[in-house]
Amino acid sequence: MRKELNQIIEKLQSSHRLEREEYLQLLNHQKEVQDQLRDLARAEMEKHFHRKIYIRGLIEISNICKNNCYYCGIRRGNKNLHRYHLSMEEILEAVDFGSQLGFQTFVLQGGEDPRNDRDFYLEIIRAVKAHNPQAALTLSIGEWSYEDYKAFKEAGADRFLLRHETRNKAHYRKLHPEEMDLDRRIQCLRDLKSLGYQTGTGIMVGSPYQSKETIVEDLLFIQDLQPEMVGIGPYVPHEDTPFGKEAPGSVDLTVFLIHILRLMLPNANIPATTSLNTLSHRGRDRAIDGGANVYMPNLTPAKNREDYSLYNNKACFKVEAGENLEDLKKLMADMGYEVVMSRGDFEVKNV
Ligand code: SF4
Repeated sequence: MRKELNQIIEKLQSSHRLEREEYLQLLNHQKEVQDQLRDLARAEMEKHFHRKIYIRGLIEISNICKNNCYYCGIRRGNKNLHRYHLSMEEILEAVDFGSQLGFQTFVLQGGEDPRNDRDFYLEIIRAVKAHNPQAALTLSIGEWSYEDYKAFKEAGADRFLLRHETRNKAHYRKLHPEEMDLDRRIQCLRDLKSLGYQTGTGIMVGSPYQSKETIVEDLLFIQDLQPEMVGIGPYVPHEDTPFGKEAPGSVDLTVFLIHILRLMLPNANIPATTSLNTLSHRGRDRAIDGGANVYMPNLTPAKNREDYSLYNNKACFKVEAGENLEDLKKLMADMGYEVVMSRGDFEVKNV
């Protein structure tokens, strides 16, 4: 078996592609191969990113969402949440604050808030770009039509994050109400790619009803899509959702999947996500030491930060906060990594 596992790992390292059964073998033998994959993923990250950690400033612009995903704390059915919606001025203030700190990439993330229509986004994209012509702008604002994505791109948006969450239809249905549609979400991702966005996708690791088989489907989808970014984090339950009593996802498995993703997509941007640190004080560091190359400090106005409550106990005030950037730099330097502020545009190609 060990010989067979080594062959699979060598194949992933050299061709960056595996078959369904091969991914399944890795997942079935996680314990035996975790350290080996970590070392290879770390070496791959060093080869492409030279131990540099790229920083993105995250601005959570609205916690209002018309959707009702069963796992999400800001779902429309949650009546226990104080809702907020940042004004144009507040968003620009957050961007300016980040610019003063040296941020050159901003991620505008929010629920699918009916008040934030296409015109709102066109105006905000143009305004952010006018304030910071050099900065890269990432949107993480859900599902839109091809024409809307095209208009956002033409207005200046560079990147788009849209986690697919699961590629398995039955699993998707367990996580989302009837009015939501996996095919539509997958089409959105294909539209974003075809429009030339640097496109990001990803999953929650350990979401209810997930299995090794569904994770393999996710890996095959990511391998096929070739996204420029992949964001994965452990599922963290939120008490005011139908899944509030479910167990959280595994940090170990999340970090293991980061190793696999780094070998699959050597020069993709892979963040060490906040949810890793919410569940384990070493979660972020293990991700960075095992292939991740991006960190996203929070630039949301402090008064709103806790209300962007996708899950419980979100870490957002310590080293996760934009204003504590110097602490993050020191922490990363202690681990032998350098925090860099540049945009970090990478072409994803199998190398
Ligand atoms: S996961 Fe996204 S789309 Fe679903 S309820 Fe939460 S913010 Fe809305």
